[in-house]
Amino acid sequence: VGVVVLGLVGSVTGLSTPTMRLRVERNANFGKLQGGYLFPEIGRRRRAFAEAQPELAERVISLGIGDTTQPIPPNILEGLVSGASKLGTSDGYSGYGAEQGNAELRSRIAERVYGGRVGAEEVFVSDGAKCDISRLQLMFGSAVTSAVQDPSYPVYVDTSVMMGQTGEVGPAGQFEKLVYMPCKPENEFFPELSETPRADVIYFCSPNNPTGAVATKAQLESLVERARADGSIVVFDAAYAPFIRTPGVPKSIFEIEGARECAIEVNSFSKYAGFTGVRLGWTVVPDTLEYADGSKVRDDFNRVMTTAFNGASNVVQSGGMACLTDEGMEEIDALIDYYLGNAQILRGLADDLGLRHCGGIDSPYVFLDLDGRSSWDTFSAILEEAQVVTIPGAGFGPGGEGFLRLSAFASRASCEEARARISKLTHLFA
Ligand code: PLP
Repeated sequence: VGVVVLGLVGSVTGLSTPTMRLRVERNANFGKLQGGYLFPEIGRRRRAFAEAQPELAERVISLGIGDTTQPIPPNILEGLVSGASKLGTSDGYSGYGAEQGNAELRSRIAERVYGGRVGAEEVFVSDGAKCDISRLQLMFGSAVTSAVQDPSYPVYVDTSVMMGQTGEVGPAGQFEKLVYMPCKPENEFFPELSETPRADVIYFCSPNNPTGAVATKAQLESLVERARADGSIVVFDAAYAPFIRTPGVPKSIFEIEGARECAIEVNSFSKYAGFTGVRLGWTVVPDTLEYADGSKVRDDFNRVMTTAFNGASNVVQSGGMACLTDEGMEEIDALIDYYLGNAQILRGLADDLGLRHCGGIDSPYVFLDLDGRSSWDTFSAILEEAQVVTIPGAGFGPGGEGFLRLSAFASRASCEEARARISKLTHLFA
């Protein structure tokens, strides 16, 4: 074990193998991707800091990747536990389930999340929104054009690149053949649709990651109107929907008239119930959504789910059922209240520093406007001087440069401490 013989190539296992060269060409689309995925890169920089300054490593607070931190509340946990326990009994045991998800869970999502606006057969239960975005891309294929908000959750861009929908990245950091919809303070972080070229598929996220902006009903109506006029599909990412508390602000694209003919919604229990590690989400594909040839998008997504997915875990779906009971929904509200309380502290930090910001209301993210300062430099300075991990806006696309994202997914004490430490760094923002 561990013997390395000169002339042989060491492998990651520590064992050695004779030199050989594959004759398999790399998928060229992967060569177009920029560096690593953002969040592992943040983790790498955090570890590098801890190694360089071990005496400060313990002090590091993360307001970074947007991972939930609070424990799963008791009723929802009981759903998971009972789902697991059943597997140990002859009566309760189940194996493969329906690839589209447990029928009861599908109806409960249709009823309790959508108030019956969508049908149970239009809900596809999955292992999460990120995975569903990739599976939607698999369905759309490489010939479509996609549009993304800039900045945006990196998965829409990276999966479009992986699928071969784009060209190379240009000098401005934008991929050829991908439509970027700038979202900035001047347009209240909502794209200027009249200036946006047509795309087949429009990825739109509200409440938004990373900007924290929440689209109003009128804005979503204009989005749906545009998609209908262009014959485009909106992929609406509602992963942060339960953070919306302001009356009248839509939590789903299906609250907008006309969306059933032009929209798909991806959603997830990750941020609702602390299921980021548990893994449970869903996608709604209306029966009324039809491709140019009249075929149903839903049928193709069903084909993807039955072929490239094998159903969400039965244990986890039992947890999902518990989320959508009265008790579970109260627990979700309490969890979200907690994170919204954190968001308020982070907005207070922006005020302490005299920085303009977006988000933190109806949203777990606060997007600080650095007034032209470099986001990676500010990220590094805050890590060095305050030992707080944030996320540089540039990691979310060129439109995020000059901004810093703070995440409310942390403990209350961490948010208060982070505010106290960062608000002293006034020299960085003078
Ligand atoms: N969509 C957005 C906008 C997100 O920010 C995230 C996670 O941070 C996801 C989807 C991923 O959701 P899931 O955990 O269900 O894969």
